[in-house]
Amino acid sequence: MGAAAAAAFTSTADVGHWIAGAATPGRGARSQPIYNPATGAVARQLRLADEVDVAAAVAAASAAQPAWGEMPPLRRARVLNAFLALLNQHRDELAAMITAEHGKVFSDAQGEVMRGIDIVEFACGIPQLLKGGYTDQVSTGIDNWTMRQPLGVVAGITPFNFPCMVPMWMFPVALACGNAFVLKPSERDPSASLLMARLLQQAGLPDGVFNVVQGDKLAVDALLAHPDVRAVSFVGSTPIAQHIYETGARHGKRVQALGGAKNHMVVMPDAELEQAVDALVGAAYGSAGERCMAISVAVLVGDVAERIVPRLAERARALVIRDGMDPAAEMGPIVTREARQRIEGYIALGVEEGAQLVVDGRGHTVPGREGGFFTGGTLFDHVRPQMRIYREEIFGPVLVCVRVPDPAAAIALVNAHEFGNGVACFTRDGGTARTFARQIEVGMVGINVPIPVPMAWHGFGGWKRSLFGDMHAYGEEGVRFYTRQKSIMQRWPDRVAEGASFVMPTAR
Ligand code: NAD
Repeated sequence: MGAAAAAAFTSTADVGHWIAGAATPGRGARSQPIYNPATGAVARQLRLADEVDVAAAVAAASAAQPAWGEMPPLRRARVLNAFLALLNQHRDELAAMITAEHGKVFSDAQGEVMRGIDIVEFACGIPQLLKGGYTDQVSTGIDNWTMRQPLGVVAGITPFNFPCMVPMWMFPVALACGNAFVLKPSERDPSASLLMARLLQQAGLPDGVFNVVQGDKLAVDALLAHPDVRAVSFVGSTPIAQHIYETGARHGKRVQALGGAKNHMVVMPDAELEQAVDALVGAAYGSAGERCMAISVAVLVGDVAERIVPRLAERARALVIRDGMDPAAEMGPIVTREARQRIEGYIALGVEEGAQLVVDGRGHTVPGREGGFFTGGTLFDHVRPQMRIYREEIFGPVLVCVRVPDPAAAIALVNAHEFGNGVACFTRDGGTARTFARQIEVGMVGINVPIPVPMAWHGFGGWKRSLFGDMHAYGEEGVRFYTRQKSIMQRWPDRVAEGASFVMPTAR
């Protein structure tokens, strides 16, 4: 369905929590506005959970989990299959909610929902994924096998930039493994989480197995300290990821905390130029650069800079920036006024630092949407590695170009950066690509692919300060994260007693 056919999400009702299978405003007295970033207007109010609300959600999850965890995986998979069908029916409704609260263009929001659906499809295969290992006759009459069991109650804390997909990196796999889940979505765009909760209930998920608490640091810290929460999955900025990882670990929890990024795209001199330009423009300015896999640095090798920068400038100036529900829009607004201020502050800083501002997106206005949080696409050239606009995550539509002499210098530059989420290399040479992929210290690599987000069965995760913890999100790593292994060694008393043994057991 195109944007024109989809109804915009215009509810003005307060957004609350979902606990034990019912919507509730909760007991927390605080609330905060949710904006439509395209108009700048307050659209609805968000109720913020306090410790009592968090405790109620964890209690509901604790009560529901044992029966859910006992249910055969095939039956859990059937609930997820029903959820999958409902998600497909409500795809555009979810996408319209995302556009209304995040601002990204509707077609991009549809793509986000689809990438979440991919994970649900993966989780439907849970009986196969939970299959254990078995060794017959490890010693005479003795067999040994391993199986994976759910952890119990697990929590997910998610960022604003993918209000549907990132929660779906977590809860479909966690639920399929037999856990109960408490989701704490972003305060900026919380509505999609409640629709997903309702759809799970319609799909037959027992009440209490999936809960949503809306909130801020107070709710997060209550989840981190709660003794019944066994594991925490987090996606967001690096300072908060580190806080979550350290605090969760201190409370004895298993934690995976995915952090921020500064993704480079290296353009080798032999790259197909038009393809590289298209890739850079889409990956830098798509979703207004508010993607953890957005390209924010173009590393231009040798003489390619002279050929590519003028084309990038032309394309950045021509971006169609509108309300995300406008079918012609290529880029929507920034999520909040404060985020736009931060982004435009970085542009001023880049000028002060001595970078060449080729295209200045500051002060962009959209007719009829003068109150919206819009900024244009910005392009810097001659950026140097010591500049803050190179080192820090700007998280907006700002592309910085760094010039390097050769492929080895490009690899050294990327490897020296504190983040290691995604990276891309554009070249026509197989050897160059292979060396790049092997030597680069980044978790997700694209060869002539600008945003190499791994498919559901491969798992998602960066290196260095882009991920705290051992296991990546979703895929088989996700199944491992949400389960623990048990080894069972078994002998049946069908042989005569052999007497006590006082030595280390070995195969006999
Ligand atoms: P954020 O870190 O501000 O917020 C993420 C979550 O943490 C939210 O639910 C928020 O309520 C909570 N939170 C915020 N401050 C907190 C605090 N002081 N204590 C406890 N909890 C707190 O991130 P954001 O602005 O919502 O999202 C953008 C960031 O997320 C970017 O840095 C982006 O790179 C990152 N991100 C990373 C990935 C990845 O896969 N690595 C994916 C998406 C987004």
